[in-house]
Amino acid sequence: MRIIAVMAQTGISRSTDISANLARLRTRIATAAQAAGRDAAAITLIAVSKFHPAEQMLPALALGQLDFGENRVQEAQGKWPPLCAQWPDCRLHLIGPLQTNKVRQALALFDAIHTLDREKLARLLADEIQAAGKMPDLFIQINIGQEPQKAGLPPGDADAFIARCRGEFGLNIQGLMCIPPAGQDAAPHFARLAEIAARNGLAQLSMGMSDDFELAIRHGATHVRVGSALFGARG
Ligand SMILES: *Cc1c(COP(=O)(O)O)cnc(C)c1O
Repeated sequence: MRIIAVMAQTGISRSTDISANLARLRTRIATAAQAAGRDAAAITLIAVSKFHPAEQMLPALALGQLDFGENRVQEAQGKWPPLCAQWPDCRLHLIGPLQTNKVRQALALFDAIHTLDREKLARLLADEIQAAGKMPDLFIQINIGQEPQKAGLPPGDADAFIARCRGEFGLNIQGLMCIPPAGQDAAPHFARLAEIAARNGLAQLSMGMSDDFELAIRHGATHVRVGSALFGARG
């Protein structure tokens, strides 16, 4: 017991845990993909690192994990620039709400934005992308369970919004993102997101978290966003 406590203090067991968790996650993703008759290589694991300190990224980076998700621009700015300098191939995904006053900073740091959900943001993104000369991968967030407190576009507005983003704003929309309501069967929500994407010719689906990524893969997820199953509980 005492040895374990010392290891936990020095962070040894922690990094072993993260390496083992990552190996396990990769196996689970591969198994779920195979069961769904899909190519596991078409599924990107986004390691959701919010609230976890930079040093906990090291064991994952060492194992070739290069896609990471953060919820907040400010937290990512404090954590990622030194890591990105050391691992230039790493890719950062913004998976939390984007305020219009943070768009420029977000574009400077993130390779993908999963939370485009309103016209004002689309307009501003279009302007700032042009100024920056750098196009991130863009996902439109759909409030798939139509929850009043949750971010995202109502599903019924999706088709028109996608068309405007492409036409009027010239944005290169890659796919859709959702967070199904907690405590409900996620399957019908994943299925509905996949339907909206398919009828709009969008190939990418950002859906599935620690508790339901295998189900999401069955429904066509191309990007699963996994935090606690990799890094442990957030404090
Ligand atoms: C925190 C978060 C995740 C990861 O959640 P886990 O349950 O820890 O895997 C995924 N997506 C979004 C949008 C999040 O905010």
